[in-house]
Amino acid sequence: MSATAVSLPVPRIPVRREPLRDVPVSGDKKVLLAAPRGYCAGVDRAVITVEKALDRYGAPVYVRKQIVHNIHVVRELEAKGAIFVEEVDEVPEGAHVVFSAHGVSPMVVDSAAERGLQAIDATCPLVTKVHREAVRFARDDFQILLVGHEGHEEVEGTAGEAPDNVTVVNNPEEADTVEVDDPSKLVWLSQTTLSVDETMETVDRLRARFPELQDPPSDDICYATQNRQVAIKKVAEGADLVIVVGSANSSNSVRLVEVALQYGAKAAYRIDYPDEVRQEWLEGVRTVGITSGASVPDVLVQQLMRELAQAGYAEVEEVRTAEEDLMFSLPKELRGDRPRGGRGSAS
Ligand code: SF4
Repeated sequence: MSATAVSLPVPRIPVRREPLRDVPVSGDKKVLLAAPRGYCAGVDRAVITVEKALDRYGAPVYVRKQIVHNIHVVRELEAKGAIFVEEVDEVPEGAHVVFSAHGVSPMVVDSAAERGLQAIDATCPLVTKVHREAVRFARDDFQILLVGHEGHEEVEGTAGEAPDNVTVVNNPEEADTVEVDDPSKLVWLSQTTLSVDETMETVDRLRARFPELQDPPSDDICYATQNRQVAIKKVAEGADLVIVVGSANSSNSVRLVEVALQYGAKAAYRIDYPDEVRQEWLEGVRTVGITSGASVPDVLVQQLMRELAQAGYAEVEEVRTAEEDLMFSLPKELRGDRPRGGRGSAS
C-alpha cells in the first residue's frame, strides 16, 4: 500500500464548563496519588507499535479491536490515521493490521493470513505467556479452568488456543458448579487483569471441590495489575473518595474501583475524563485517592489533579508501593528505527 498523508484533528481532553468549587470541609484537603498507576509495559509497547506502524507504512493502519482499552488512546491513534475494526474481514486485502495487546486466537491469525494481510502482533508478552501455558496443558491432555470474564478479548484469545480443553470460570460462584471430566487432570489459568483477591477465592473454591487442581507455572495475573491493586489498597485506607481514571471496558480499571471499595474508600468512581467528576462527589471529602488503569496515559491524571487543585485539593502525597521499570521490545517487524521510551515509565 502507498503511504497517504492525513491531516486530522488531534483529540483534546474535554474541558469542564464550570470549575469544581472549593467547598470548605473540616480539616485540610489533600490528594493521595497511587503509584504505580497508569501505563504498563504491555500497553506502552502496543501503543508505540501502532504509532511506529503509521510512521513506517503510512496511514491508514488497521487495528483489530481497540489496541488497548482506553477511549482517549484510541481517539488519539484514530487522529493519527489508525482505523479500528472489529474483525480482520473488514480490513482491505494486503493491508497492514495490528493485533491488540489483549491477544488473538489462532483462528484470527489464520483469517488474516488468508486475506493476505500484513499482520503485526502487539499482544502483550505476558498474555502470550498464558497462551503458551494453555497450549502446553492442552497437549498434555489437561482440562483448563480459565478464570476470567467470558466475552473479554483476552479470554477469547486464550481459550481459542485450546478450545476443546478450556472451560471459563467467571467468578467464585461458578467455581461451585463448573463440571469437569477428570479431576486428576485439571489446571487453572487466568486472565491477566483480574482482582487478585477474587481470583484466589475462585481458586480456593475450585480446590475444595478438586484437590488435585494444579496451579499455573507462574502468576497469570500480571505484575502491573497486581501492583496497581496493592497501591490502591493502601490509598483506599485513608481516602474518603477514590477516583479511578480508566475506561468502562478496561478490566483492570474496573477492578481498581472494586478493590478501593473493599479496602476502605467511602466511595469510588471510574471516569474516562476529568470533566466527569461531579461536584457532589466532593461533598464532605477531605482526602481524594487517585489512580488509573494500566491503559491510561498520565496526562489524564495530571488534568484531573489540576481540576481538583482548583477545588482546594492542591496538596498531593504520593503513595508508592512498588517501582516498575519493565519494558518489552517491539514486534520484530518494527524494531530498529526509533528508540523506545519517551512515553513514560510503566508507573
Ligand atoms: S495489564 Fe499486564 S498483561 Fe495487560 S498489557 Fe499490561 S502488562 Fe500486559
